[in-house]
Amino acid sequence: MVEPFTDVSGSPSALALDSPVLHVDRKLATRRTGLRDKGEEAHVILAGMGILTVGDLLRHYPRRYIDRSAVERIGDLRLGEQATVIARVQKTVNRLTRRRQSMVTVTLADGSGTLDLTFFNQPWAAGIYKEGLELAVSGTVTRYRGRLQLANQEAEVLGGDERDLVHTGRITPVHRASEGITTRTIRELVFSALERLPTIPDPMPSELLDAEGLDGLDIALRRVHFPEDAEQLARAIERLKFDELFTLELGVAFRKHRLESERTGVAHQAEGELTARLLATLPFEPTKAQTRAIEEVGAAMAAGRPMNVLLQGDVGSGKTVVAVSACLSAIQSGHQAAVMAPTEVLATQHAISVAALLEGVGAIDVLDRGPASSRAPHGQGSLLEELPPAQHEQEGDSITYALLTAAVTGKDRARVVSGIAEGSVDLVIGTHALVQEAVSFADLTLAVIDEQHRFGLHQRMALKGKGDGEIDVLIMTATPIPRTLALTYYGDLDVVVLDELPAGRQPIGTAAARSEEERAAAYDLVRREVGAGRQAFVVCAAIDEGNRSQVRAAEAEAERLATEIFPDLHVELLHGRMRPKDKDRVMDAFRAGHADLLISTTVIEVGVDVPNATVMLVENAERFGLAQLHQLRGRIGRGEHVSYCVLFDESEETNQDARARIEAMTRTTDGFELADEDLKLRGEGTLFDTKQSGMPDLKLARLADDLDLVKRARARAFDLIDDDPDLEDHRALVDELRDRFEDSIAWLFSA
Ligand code: ADP
Ligand code: MG
Repeated sequence: MVEPFTDVSGSPSALALDSPVLHVDRKLATRRTGLRDKGEEAHVILAGMGILTVGDLLRHYPRRYIDRSAVERIGDLRLGEQATVIARVQKTVNRLTRRRQSMVTVTLADGSGTLDLTFFNQPWAAGIYKEGLELAVSGTVTRYRGRLQLANQEAEVLGGDERDLVHTGRITPVHRASEGITTRTIRELVFSALERLPTIPDPMPSELLDAEGLDGLDIALRRVHFPEDAEQLARAIERLKFDELFTLELGVAFRKHRLESERTGVAHQAEGELTARLLATLPFEPTKAQTRAIEEVGAAMAAGRPMNVLLQGDVGSGKTVVAVSACLSAIQSGHQAAVMAPTEVLATQHAISVAALLEGVGAIDVLDRGPASSRAPHGQGSLLEELPPAQHEQEGDSITYALLTAAVTGKDRARVVSGIAEGSVDLVIGTHALVQEAVSFADLTLAVIDEQHRFGLHQRMALKGKGDGEIDVLIMTATPIPRTLALTYYGDLDVVVLDELPAGRQPIGTAAARSEEERAAAYDLVRREVGAGRQAFVVCAAIDEGNRSQVRAAEAEAERLATEIFPDLHVELLHGRMRPKDKDRVMDAFRAGHADLLISTTVIEVGVDVPNATVMLVENAERFGLAQLHQLRGRIGRGEHVSYCVLFDESEETNQDARARIEAMTRTTDGFELADEDLKLRGEGTLFDTKQSGMPDLKLARLADDLDLVKRARARAFDLIDDDPDLEDHRALVDELRDRFEDSIAWLFSA
């Protein structure tokens, strides 16, 4: 460790972590940047960045580091590379461009060559980068009019009359700065703070640190800002990342422990008459994965504590039968079950697939008052609203189910709702609205939530409230969740995986279309498949349904396809603004094979199971996220025919993220691979609104990269909770967590 970091505790000037930034060093903290006397003082700017105390300052980790040993000579630079050079300003020229914009050109030299930096519309740059000063600059090496330049550069003046930090160590931190404060000022404040700060106490149990071979907090915090070498830095970062992940896992472990030990759930009869009948009458041979999942879910339902299972299975992996089996377990134990879907169309779809599976079990749709297979027309007058006597007698061993969506209205609705309240309806299938409306269950003990690709982590909470005590929850997700997320954000759930598709599934070929020729070929493909008796989907969806011009463009494109490109085909249109009844009508027609082509201007409503559909065209695929694209593609390849997905890509070549997404789609159909890719491309910050999810903000840890550390932190956190479930003996740790993550972890500790 370098000299300045000696322990100065006891000295009257000692700082504490909660001291205000102003106390670090008055002169530094009141420094103004920019032209003389303009701008706020540094501590005011920092406050605006959320940095109020010394503790905040130390948690403002460097964004990157300048490693002097990695500094290059100008003469050795290669075009296109990302480089750092240290050189002297030879000349600074400030002039106006033809468009009368200010342009400052700073020419640097280091003895091996010269290099230009250009600053547009920053006339003050000429005042900062004066001749003779030494600069450290990083950027991308480019060439303009034969001269080397550094583009997107970050320049920093070295030396001067202030203490020259760059020369104290080989690695210099670069902290995120902001308008009105330089990274240099921040670095000097951090340096000064660390110099005056006594040893920072470590809330982490020392046995744990020893066992994990981690640095102490004091060392880690000092070295993350001022490491002497790359190894020190790596160790410091490992410790700080561990803290973040450990916090997260501690909350998860705490919750899980509470759920499992303190609360009692319903011990269901997992195997019985109904589940046996289901398995005996399945129209297909279940996959090994399905059999295993049914058993795992059954075991969790049979346990006397509340179940929280995440059933993770790619589109088409056959989650429905697992869900139905779980519902039957609840029903054969004398209780009710509910299946929630995120949209009307999906709820209807579920009702149909569930009905098909329940046929052999002998289930009755309360509204149809007939066997599941014959979907008789609804309500024909009040006299007929009682069940016919023959079926009354059967009722003892037949079960009833009902669909409850916005499309179910009037008397039908009243009957379903009262049936749920009385307990004469055993199974309800509906949308999320079901839980928000005035629906009360007689005896709900299982909720199945189909989240599709939505990571709606806390919606299940609302549903749980519908049960009397603690009900069992089975969440189904069609977008495989990267392993790290399963261990963190979903970490208090037990994960059951369907990692196998039913045999005989045909592959899906995926291509990107960027030219007119490729577009024409895609349309030909539609004709060819329709000619062979197949059906096709075209999605022209507005990603942002609130964006009027996007919605209009999607609708115009749908019209154009219907009237100009495929006037000879039977086309159905599905609009986002259609009434639920009309949507149902369109979907029914398509499902029944009455339409060749379904053009949809809305994304989520496409969650349908039409095995005869073999083509999926996606307009403006560049606007969709990977999860959505994967979902859309999952609508095809569900039957016995080879299927094709074409992604129309209108993105600029420079839109690297869009290109990467589409490339990933053409490379693989494996949902797990795509999920990992998605996490890498987007980062967890965008995947989750951390504020909303209530999860602590991860500053250093990256779930996509830190699987190993996640596992270590998780194991330690779970051990700790096993030993000390209420964290009685670890108050310091809890206080530290509360302090650092504030309300963001509140929910973790108050399950
Ligand atoms: P998911 O909900 O996981 O996307 P579904 O449960 O909707 O999948 O099943 C997709 C399709 O595959 C349905 O048509 C279903 O009947 C069928 N299916 C499910 N399991 C099997 C199986 N083991 N063998 C053959 N077909 C199956
Ligand atoms: Mg499904």
